[in-house]
Amino acid sequence: LSQHACDHLAQLLEGFGLAAATPLSNWIDGELIAGEGEEITLINPATGETLVHYRDAGAALMERATQAAQRGQREWMALTASERGRRMNAALRGLEGHEEALAQLESVVAGKPIRDCRAEVGKVREMFEYYAGWCDKQHGEVIPVPTSHLNYVRHVPYGVVGQITPWNAPMFTCAWQLAPAMAAGNGVVLKPSELTPFSSVVIAKLLESDGLPKGLINIVNGLGKTTGAALTDHPTISKLVFVGSPQSGRMIAEAGARRLVPSVLELGGKSANIVFADAKLDEAVAGAQAAIFAAAGQSCVAGSRLLIERSVFEQVTSRLARAAEQIAVGLPSDEATRMGPLQNRRQFEQATRMIEAAEAAGARVLTGGKRPEGLPDEAHGYFIAPTVLVDVTPDMEIAQQEVFGPVLIAMAFENEAEAVQLANETRFGLAGAVWSQDVARAHRVAGQLRAGTVWINSYKAISVMSPFGGFGDSGFGRSSGLDGLREYTVPQSVWVETAPEASVAFGYGSGV
Ligand code: NAD
Repeated sequence: LSQHACDHLAQLLEGFGLAAATPLSNWIDGELIAGEGEEITLINPATGETLVHYRDAGAALMERATQAAQRGQREWMALTASERGRRMNAALRGLEGHEEALAQLESVVAGKPIRDCRAEVGKVREMFEYYAGWCDKQHGEVIPVPTSHLNYVRHVPYGVVGQITPWNAPMFTCAWQLAPAMAAGNGVVLKPSELTPFSSVVIAKLLESDGLPKGLINIVNGLGKTTGAALTDHPTISKLVFVGSPQSGRMIAEAGARRLVPSVLELGGKSANIVFADAKLDEAVAGAQAAIFAAAGQSCVAGSRLLIERSVFEQVTSRLARAAEQIAVGLPSDEATRMGPLQNRRQFEQATRMIEAAEAAGARVLTGGKRPEGLPDEAHGYFIAPTVLVDVTPDMEIAQQEVFGPVLIAMAFENEAEAVQLANETRFGLAGAVWSQDVARAHRVAGQLRAGTVWINSYKAISVMSPFGGFGDSGFGRSSGLDGLREYTVPQSVWVETAPEASVAFGYGSGV
C-alpha cells in the first residue's frame, strides 16, 4: 500500500501541476514555486511510511508573497464591489471537475477518511458562495453627530492579511479564512500546516485560474518557526488570523503585539457535552459518539468531556462503549472507513501518553485505549481505537488538557448546578452541548456555559453564516458570518464640516 499511496499522491500532484523532483509547494503571484529551505518529510499517517519530501519556503519567498499580495489587493480594490462578488463566484468554476482529486489528495496526506474529505471540499464552495454575496452588501453608517458636521463610517480592508492554519481541517480552514478576507477587500498570504501543505496550494491555484487578480491569494508552505515566523514578523502584514493550538496561538499573538498588529485566534477546546436523565438517550448517545469520534477526535469542537446525570451514567456509558466498538476504523482510502488514524506521530504519542497517565491517576478504560483490532496488515500508522474513560476526576490532566484524539472522558453529576460547574471548570471555552427534553432547563443551562458555541439536543451543527470562536484558552475574535467578515476590516470615521459657524461650539478646543 505504501508504494501505492506514494504513486497515487505523485499522480494527484502531477494532475494539479505540482509534481517535480521537489514538489512545487507554494502558490505565489499566480505561479507554482518550490521552496528552497530545509527539507520537510511527510509521513503516511495510515502506514507510517514516507510519502514525499518538499522544501520549506522561508523568508525569501515570504518577501515575494507579500509583495504579490500588495499588488493583487490594489487590483482587487480597483474593481467595483459587485464585480468582486461576481469574480469570487466565478472563481469556483475553477474547482469544477477537480473535487474528487482534491478530496483524494487530502485523504492521502491528512489520513482522513475519503468521505470526510469529500464533505470538506463541499465546504470550500459554501464559504466562497456565502462571502461572495457579502462583497456588495458591506456598507458604512452615518452617525448622528450635531448638524455642524456630517460623520460617516467606512469599513476599509487592512491591506494584506496573514493567515496560519492547522492540519486537522486544512481545506475547511483555508476557505474559511480566505473567503471573508477577500470579500472584505484584502490580499492574503496563508501558511497551511507543514503536515498538510498541498490542498491549500491547489485550492488557490484552481480559484485564481478564473478571473481573480494574480497575487491576490498566496500560499507559502513551511515550518512554524521558519515560514510561520517570517509571516507573523513581516512588516507588510497588518492583521494575523491563526487557527491552531493555544501554545502556538500565544506565540502568534506575541509576534503581533511586538509589531502592534491585531490577531484573531481560533484555538483548541475541551468541550463539555451534558446529558440529563430526561434526554432522549438514543439521540444523546449517538450525538456523544459523533461529537468525539468524528475525525478521530481531531476536531477543535470535539465533545471530549461527557457529563452525565448520575441516574443514567451506567446506562449511557455502557451504550456508548458498545457504539464505539462498532465504529469502522480503517484505511482512509477505504469507502467503508468511518474513522482513520491520527494524523501524525506527535499527536499519536500525545494521545497514548495521556491515556496512560489517566490510568495511572486512577481512570478506568471502558473501551479502546490501544490499537484497534482487525486492521489491514499495512496499517502500521497512528491508529488508536475509540476510547472511553470513566472514574475520571476534574483535576486529572485528561479532564483539563485537549487530547485531540478519539478519547472521551465521562463524569457523573448530581444536579443542574453541578453540571454547569463541571462544564465551566476549564481554561477552554470553545463549544458545549446540553441534552434534555426540558426546554426551560436546556436554555437555562446553555445560557450559563462559558463557550462560544452551544448546542441543545445536537452537536457540531455549524454554519458559515453563524459566528464561531472561543472564550479563554480557546482564543478570541470570531470567524464566519458578519462577525467573521468584520475581523477583516477597520472602521474609518470620516468627518465633513457642513456649518462652520455652528461647529465652533463643537469639536475644536474640546481638548481631546
Ligand atoms: P499548531 O499550533 O501546532 O500549528 C498550527 C499552525 O501554526 C501550523 O501551520 C504551524 O506551522 C503554525 N505555527 C506553529 N508555531 C508557529 C510560530 N511560532 N509562528 C508561526 N506559525 C506557527 O496546531 P496543529 O497541531 O496544527 O492543530 C491542532 C490544534 O488546532 C488543536 O489545538 C485544535 O483544537 C486547533 N484547531 C482550532 C480550530 C478552531 O477553529 N478553534 C480549528 C481547527 C483546529
